[in-house]
Amino acid sequence: MTFKHFIKTITFIEIFKGMALTFRKMLSRAVTIQYPTERRDIAPGFRGQHALAKEGGRQKCVGCGLCATICPSQCIKITRAKGKVEKYEIELLRCIYCGFCVEACPYGAISLTENYEYSSYNKDDLLMTKEKLLSNWDKYMGGMKGDVYYKKFWRPLAEDFETPPGQVAYRGKK
Ligand code: SF4
Ligand code: SF4
Repeated sequence: MTFKHFIKTITFIEIFKGMALTFRKMLSRAVTIQYPTERRDIAPGFRGQHALAKEGGRQKCVGCGLCATICPSQCIKITRAKGKVEKYEIELLRCIYCGFCVEACPYGAISLTENYEYSSYNKDDLLMTKEKLLSNWDKYMGGMKGDVYYKKFWRPLAEDFETPPGQVAYRGKK
């Protein structure tokens, strides 16, 4: 044992230093908050639970499957029957919230929302069905706030595409 170490041991200096630090922190502002009674503002563009978009009260999804194809976690399952989307499911426990499904969708039919409060002890609650996803649209993307959030972060990138000047383009039947 060195002399310095010996002095530290008999004077309990490390304990006093630790207690001084604890005392200083007791007087400083707490960084923790009392969730769920207190909440922090959500960061812009937060990637929360998914929603299937609606337009005029009707779902926009046509079941093309592009979102399921691009999904790196392969957690989207879609089946179509009689020309309609019969099943649209997302397994939230496998999702990594990359947002690729949103980017791939040519119709802006799927979106991420700001909702992060969906933890559950039941695995079934974390399987998002078409009905749950559509109701998420009404719950989290309805009204002006949802409109702004959707247009700012989750609108289809296809809206940015333009026909280059001079390129022959189909303009519909005359
Ligand atoms: S956010 Fe990513 S991982 Fe989650 S469903 Fe969409 S594509 Fe798949
Ligand atoms: S959400 Fe979009 S990409 Fe996915 S199946 Fe529906 S229309 Fe196609």
